[in-house]
Parts: sequence; C-alpha cells; structure tokens
Amino acid sequence: APFQVVDVHDLLDATLVMFKAKIPAGVKLVKEYDRNLPPVPAYAAELNQVWTNLIDNALAAMGEKGTLTVRTGRSDDLLTVEIADTGPGIPREVRPRIFEPFFTTKAVGSGTGLGLDISYRIVVHKHHGDIRVESVPGSTTFRVLLPLTAETA
Ligand code: ADP
Ligand code: MG
Repeated sequence: APFQVVDVHDLLDATLVMFKAKIPAGVKLVKEYDRNLPPVPAYAAELNQVWTNLIDNALAAMGEKGTLTVRTGRSDDLLTVEIADTGPGIPREVRPRIFEPFFTTKAVGSGTGLGLDISYRIVVHKHHGDIRVESVPGSTTFRVLLPLTAETA
C-alpha cells in the first residue's frame, strides 16, 4: 500500500481523544505542537498504534499524578514526535531490553511486552525512521523521528 500524506498533529489528536477517559484527573496533558510542520508520508493507522503504545506506557509509568507532554518538531529532514512523562524513569539495567519482544516489567496480565517491539518495527522498518529514548529518574522521553519526504522513506 502507498504512503498516505498526513498531518501528524491530526494523528496525535485522534489518538489522544481515545485516551481522554483514561487520563487521570491528576495527570496534566501538555501539547507542544509545531504547527508549521509539513505533512509526512505515513501509514496513519500504524503510526496511531505507535502513539497509543507510547502514551499507554507513559500513563502506566505515572499512575495518578504527573505530566504527559506530546511535542512535535523538526530536526533537519526529519519530523520529531516526543512523548514525555514524569514517571520514575527506566532503570539502567532495564533500558537495554525494552525493545525486545515480550520484555515487560509489568505484572502478569497487565503487560504483553510487545508495545515497544511493535512500535520499533512500525517506525524503523515501515517508515525508515528511528525511535529513541532518554530517561532519568523522574522523566522519560520517547522520540520518534520520521523522514519528511517519501524519497528517504
Ligand atoms: P509492556 O508495556 O507490555 O510492558 P512495552 O514493550 O510497551 O511492554 O514496554 C516494555 C517495558 O519498557 C515496560 O514493561 C517498562 O519496564 C519499560 N517502559 C516503557 N515505557 C516506559 C516509560 N515511559 N517509563 C518507564 N518504563 C517504561
Ligand atoms: Mg506497553
């Protein structure tokens, strides 16, 4: 199937609407959108799956209280989407394994360990982008990079 050309903000907003009832009252949602970004070639439904996985993890990390930030921007010929939380952070010993299929630190039945594996495959293999994580105690940021042109995608 060919890429669609989408405004990434429409995708993010569509995903956030799905989460509306699941965001606790004590969790603040901050949207920092760069509205000047051009549309990107993308598989819309699959990117929505990525945002869903990352937001799901962010909310799980924070529990009842914190700040969820969804930020867009541009870095050279890449569009960037960041999902940031104020949860505890990813422990150093856990960090190398988070993209492995079936790796989870969640209780049996509450995590499949597939969210980041699937997200990695969608972003890296299907969109020729990249997905990176920065985490320190008190905050975690996942950054998705997407090529702005179909030629590089
Ligand atoms: P699952 O959510 O089912 O555990 P994922 O592939 O989505 O599987 O995530 C794998 C693991 O990565 C999680 O179990 C958790 O240990 C860690 N992780 C992912 N996102 C975050 C986050 N925002 N904060 C802290 N840990 C995280
Ligand atoms: Mg998950």
